Amino acid sequence: MDISKRTQRLIWAIWVLVVPFGIYSIYQFAEPTEINWPILLGYAALAIITTYFPFKVAGTTLFLVQWINLAIFLKYGVFVEMLVMQLAIIPLAIQLKIGLSDFYRALFNSFMFFMVSVISGVSVILMGYDIGSIELKHILLFGFLYQIINTFSNHVILHLYLVLTKQEHTGFFGRDSLWDYAGLVVTFPFGFTLYLLNEYVGPVAFLLIGIPFLIITFLVRLYSNSERVNEDLNQATEIGHELADRLSNDAIIDLFLSRISKMLPVDYSYIIDIDQGNMYFLKSKEKDINVEILQTHEELLKSIAGIVYKKDKSILFNKQKEWRKSGSDFLPTDTESIISVPISRNQKMEGILVIASRKKYAFETYQLQIISLLCSYFAVSLEKARYVQDAVSKSERCGLTKLYNYRYLDQQLETNMSQLLNGELRQLSLLMMDIDHFKAINDTYGHQSGNDILFGLARLLENELGDAGIIARYGGEEFVIILPNYSKQQSLALAEELREKIETTRFEIRTDLEDEPVLSFVNITTSIGVSTAPEDCDDAMALIRNADRALYIGAKREGRNRVAEYVK
Ligand code: GH3
Ligand code: MG
Ligand code: MG
Repeated sequence: MDISKRTQRLIWAIWVLVVPFGIYSIYQFAEPTEINWPILLGYAALAIITTYFPFKVAGTTLFLVQWINLAIFLKYGVFVEMLVMQLAIIPLAIQLKIGLSDFYRALFNSFMFFMVSVISGVSVILMGYDIGSIELKHILLFGFLYQIINTFSNHVILHLYLVLTKQEHTGFFGRDSLWDYAGLVVTFPFGFTLYLLNEYVGPVAFLLIGIPFLIITFLVRLYSNSERVNEDLNQATEIGHELADRLSNDAIIDLFLSRISKMLPVDYSYIIDIDQGNMYFLKSKEKDINVEILQTHEELLKSIAGIVYKKDKSILFNKQKEWRKSGSDFLPTDTESIISVPISRNQKMEGILVIASRKKYAFETYQLQIISLLCSYFAVSLEKARYVQDAVSKSERCGLTKLYNYRYLDQQLETNMSQLLNGELRQLSLLMMDIDHFKAINDTYGHQSGNDILFGLARLLENELGDAGIIARYGGEEFVIILPNYSKQQSLALAEELREKIETTRFEIRTDLEDEPVLSFVNITTSIGVSTAPEDCDDAMALIRNADRALYIGAKREGRNRVAEYVK
């Protein structure tokens, strides 16, 4: 609730000014005549029970107390009806979990009930209702008018309040208010019957009609509760399917958090990763905004996530009082309700989810189970994504040098070539590099040392090139570098730089020809052929072939350790 302290004080002031004096004036104005106490107590008890057991239909909470206040009004008039409704504030406050800190809500309800009682009661009396009448047409007409005015004035006051205090609501003709009018279809006949039955058979009427009413509402409550669980479970299954379709970690994390926030009233959400026994924030969202929270494992241990970590158990808190002492200083100060659940896979905790709301009692116990279920979908989806990513990168990379392989090179070159043809690229150059006398190195130092050099050269090329191009291992000791938007001259210059860098680098090897592996260093040289599209050719295979020719004819044949360009 975002009600400012000023508005809260205003509500107090209005209540003090209006309600006590108002009740007193109404008493003066319409003092009730002879009261049948057992019947009045019966009414009051029924009003309290009905208010205490509201039910939710399609997301709206209904307090179907109108049927009782209708009967009370018909029998005793405005004053008694008003008193009973004021009494019903107590079960209402308990139901809405109103505490001392938000006591203004109880006062507002008291004020609203008072106004509704006065408006509907006084207007029906002014229209000519004769209190205590048992003339059928008369009570049908005025009873109906009373209920309509009662519901409508309640509706108007509540709407004004929500608008003035800028709270979220479903609009004047929204879902919540439509349900209130639909409720009349039930409450009017029940209230009307209760009144008449009381007139004819006395307090036994409460048993005859009160008990069936309570049983019906109880059954509807049971039904709508299980409907809600069902609905949440359905949603969870759907989210599970959606998560399984995503193949990148980021997409899975974003989808997971956004779906949970849609399903529950979540203001803040955090995913904490556990890596080798250490907790750290993987993702933090506060009101849909990504935030960065830096807390060490030790700090997190003292938070609510720490409790979940140590106990490996989910927890649910309904309000700040329940958890403030046990920590969680990373949560914003206005946090009230919290759900925190371990994210586990194969019985091993891999992370922790913390979701929080600024509302008290925002989450229900059964939702804890549903969130746990979603967390296991989440963990499985992440693992699946990891497998798929691994498989994809393995199929594109060479196992020894970790560079792209021929297969990837082939695809990439085709892509770049079509970009060149449709104008996205102006030029496309290709370097083909071959290590000079590599066979001799293998023969001298052993095959393993040769591998060390291939690996070292791959790292050198990556460092030198950065994002400028794509490096692939073409064959044994041959490498290809694709250079989008490089001219022939730029490529020749780059090739020359690389050649010099390689020539002056000492590559570390572990010779395994002796019993003990020995660490030593060798120098190598390379020959490089350069070809550029569109000036030399306009298809991928020709670009490779040309660079290869430049390499063998222009560089190798001319003595090696040199750069050569393709000449037609
Ligand atoms: P040049 O290119 O200067 O003409 O001489 P070279 O000795 O490098 O040429 P050649 O093509 O005859 O030999 C290539 C050698 O590269 C043959 C092979 O032993 C070695 N080679 C190819 N792939 C690997 C590999 O994966 N690991 C190791 N250690 N050696 C490899
Ligand atoms: Mg060679
Ligand atoms: Mg070769």
